[in-house]
Amino acid sequence: MHYIYTQSLPSDSKEFIHLIDKAKSHDNQNWLIAESCIEAYKLAEHLCAPIFRAAINNHFIDRWSKGLADMDIFDKQSLIRIAFQGITGERVLLQFLVDRYCEVWRLENMYEQNAEEHLPRKSLLRCVRRYCELQNVPQEGKQERCYLEHVNEGGKEACAKLHMRWDEEAEHGFFE
Ligand SMILES: [Zn+2]
Repeated sequence: MHYIYTQSLPSDSKEFIHLIDKAKSHDNQNWLIAESCIEAYKLAEHLCAPIFRAAINNHFIDRWSKGLADMDIFDKQSLIRIAFQGITGERVLLQFLVDRYCEVWRLENMYEQNAEEHLPRKSLLRCVRRYCELQNVPQEGKQERCYLEHVNEGGKEACAKLHMRWDEEAEHGFFE
């Protein structure tokens, strides 16, 4: 909304994040914040604003583990649908959403059994590959995945986690 009214982005990423969090109010606050982050991420990508894009991504990842993830499976599916419409495949945010979804997808009710009908094909392909990795690659002692977008010089090198390398041809992100 800030952008619509002012045709500008706030110069400070913290201010921008503040605007996202205060953008709307609703009972399902977590979903609204998450959805706003994803829409803002798309805007940052559209505007070719990598610093803002990284700020939104990193804010989202941080908030997810601090309570933002507290929403039902249907909301998580809708976030995947929104994210896969417009965010380019190489962005680690998409893989983050898929990886988290694979951890909570259960076949305990009909809707979840039929979840594949409600998810974009490209996200399902990633789910299948993720299950394949979990099944076939020993996870014990495996380094954690990093879902941050490192923008500072040397940030990635200083981070001990695995980072995604996007293979355009395979349409797959390898964590190495
Ligand atoms: Zn990292």
